[in-house]
Amino acid sequence: MSWSSPGGPGRLAGDGAVVARAPAKVNVHLAVGPLRSDGFHELRTVYLAVSLFDTVTVRPGDGLSLTVTGEGTTGSGPDAVPTDRRNLVWRAAELLAERAGVPADAAITIDKSIPAAAGLAGGSADAAAALVALDALWATHATRGELTALAARLGSDVPFSLLGGVALGSGRGEQLSPVLARRRWDWVLGIAGEGLSTPAVYAELDRLRAAGRVPDGEELSSPDPVIAALRSGPVPALAAALGNDLQPPALSLRPDLRRALRAATGAGAAAAVVSGSGPTVAALAEDEESAVRLTAALAGEGVYRTVRAVHGPVPGARLVG
Ligand code: ATP
Repeated sequence: MSWSSPGGPGRLAGDGAVVARAPAKVNVHLAVGPLRSDGFHELRTVYLAVSLFDTVTVRPGDGLSLTVTGEGTTGSGPDAVPTDRRNLVWRAAELLAERAGVPADAAITIDKSIPAAAGLAGGSADAAAALVALDALWATHATRGELTALAARLGSDVPFSLLGGVALGSGRGEQLSPVLARRRWDWVLGIAGEGLSTPAVYAELDRLRAAGRVPDGEELSSPDPVIAALRSGPVPALAAALGNDLQPPALSLRPDLRRALRAATGAGAAAAVVSGSGPTVAALAEDEESAVRLTAALAGEGVYRTVRAVHGPVPGARLVG
């Protein structure tokens, strides 16, 4: 790799800060295969990047430092956002520095709007934004392909956080093929008060499968109906095609999610599905106006901590300003 060279784009005036942002995702299709010998599950998923963004700001520093503001700064348990090496952004910085042969010097701030441990890939968004911002700060001139390879090492969802839009994910979710979506899709996200640990949800799926309570996953359900619906609509076609194998284990661990899903369809959503490993409920709206009405109705129900109207597809991690 020919990564180190001086100068570089993206540097803002003033204190040398570089700012990038990356979106949350909703899995509009998530088929989970059986547990593999490497401890991962084979996935077939359709990702949709939606308009809820975390922002990562990087400045010249001496060594690495990390500050987290916004959503999740007061969480405990799975929603706690670490400010040390356990944070995916820290690991992204170390990995990029090592591969580019530059010192890992940066003062990093993450401003979170994406709640942690919510099934919205907030940590992955932060890592993708950090790769883009630090590439500019350190003038490492990595290509998109090089950044994507680093992203795949950081986590299954990080390559998609970098790419954005709509994509079919296979392998652990990190092998992506872009999908064409010709229209905008409006959603309302119902965010719970407490996060869910992704490994705990997969473990619960394995337990339910061993007990014969859900299909064994040997045959992955096809993403084709979702891809066809995303391409051309109409809304009821996508509503009918949504599916998530992690929904039964998420409901098993958090029975109150049934009420949250019912609240969304009861308030007029075309369909409601658990996003990724949950516990966020993604409610599909007919259009932007319906999403605004649905947001107001669901905010009044008191079943969610926060309700956010979003739309997708939106681009992946990008420099801002
Ligand atoms: P997944 O991508 O598996 O669906 P998720 O969206 O449910 O995960 P994240 O918000 O990515 O969840 O956080 C998962 C865990 O990662 C949390 O328990 C948290 O402690 C840890 N973590 C590490 N870095 C971050 C980060 N920058 N933001 C949020 N969580 C982070």
